[in-house]
Amino acid sequence: RSLNPRGAAAQQITVCVRKRPMSRKEENSKNMDIITIPTSDSLIVHELRLKVDLTKFLEHHKFRFDFTFDEECSNALVYDHTARPLIRTMFEGGNATCFAYGQTGSGKTHTMGGEFFGKIQDCGTGIYAMAARDVFEEISRPEYREIGAKITCSFFEIYGSKVFDLLLPNKPMLRVLEDGRQQVVVVGLTEITVTKVEDVLRLIEHGSKERTSGQTSANAKSSRSHAVFQIALHMPNSWGPYGKCSFVDLAGNERGADTQSADRQTRIEGAEINKSLLALKECIRALSRQSSHLPFRGSKLTQVLRDSFVGGKKNKTCMIAMISPSMSCVEHTLNTLRYADRVK
Ligand code: ADP
Ligand code: MG
Repeated sequence: RSLNPRGAAAQQITVCVRKRPMSRKEENSKNMDIITIPTSDSLIVHELRLKVDLTKFLEHHKFRFDFTFDEECSNALVYDHTARPLIRTMFEGGNATCFAYGQTGSGKTHTMGGEFFGKIQDCGTGIYAMAARDVFEEISRPEYREIGAKITCSFFEIYGSKVFDLLLPNKPMLRVLEDGRQQVVVVGLTEITVTKVEDVLRLIEHGSKERTSGQTSANAKSSRSHAVFQIALHMPNSWGPYGKCSFVDLAGNERGADTQSADRQTRIEGAEINKSLLALKECIRALSRQSSHLPFRGSKLTQVLRDSFVGGKKNKTCMIAMISPSMSCVEHTLNTLRYADRVK
């Protein structure tokens, strides 16, 4: 299937939707696939509804995005149209950011971290790894080798309003500080110098394990945390990175509705997720409007990603909204699509 790129590289903000295939379980139950993708930039949700007299009818919700990826699309194809055009940004001294948004089970970690074979994840097939491959290809060029530029990686998680380092054993908590010039620093965040793709794969594997360790699928904390994987370019004798790529596997957006839960801790976490996803939308909108008011203090997530939203035209952002095809998820799917629709 050929896509017709509407110049993702030229756009500052790209918003896409990816539909995952029906799972075996969904196919075996009476679930139906209610999403059609007629063209590579449109999508229709066919919602089954009841009239007052209980007769059934279909309501068709139409959406348009920069790209819409159907269940046949591979991670590589999604990468080519989303994160790949952003990699250059880092070498031009800007910040590129790519978000995976959607409900739990919609395919965020599959897209970012790599394809699952049962419970085993192949890190080499995720956006993190594909980006790393392209970064190394670029930096192997003589002009970068000669000046001694280097690449570092960080991987952390934001859970509630706390930050945890995924590259250290038992993921220690880190403090976030803002200096007088509004520069935000995650104090002591591990930055590992990497020289080849295999180094990066090992870090992704380690961090992904730390993120989900000790969790049962029934009470998965990872669905209530944001994971941030960063690749930074450093030039010799300069303070701070020259440019950065951030990849964010966001918390399940349905968790933002946990504010009604009986459990107090779950309510607090739900409220923080809600707050961070709203703040994220506001910050991306501020970026797209070149607004001088940037509400990055609205949440820990946007505070930590402040650099992604300031700096004007040099920065680029991409959001991939993930959706499930099944009828049972229609409410969450519509919520996801409406959010994505309002990001730009
Ligand atoms: P999330 O991180 O959004 O909670 P996951 O990435 O863990 O969701 O995906 C949930 C399940 O669906 C996993 O078993 C994953 O392998 C499967 N899945 C998701 N996206 C796809 C896809 N595009 N193709 C095949 N399987 C997928
Ligand atoms: Mg996940």
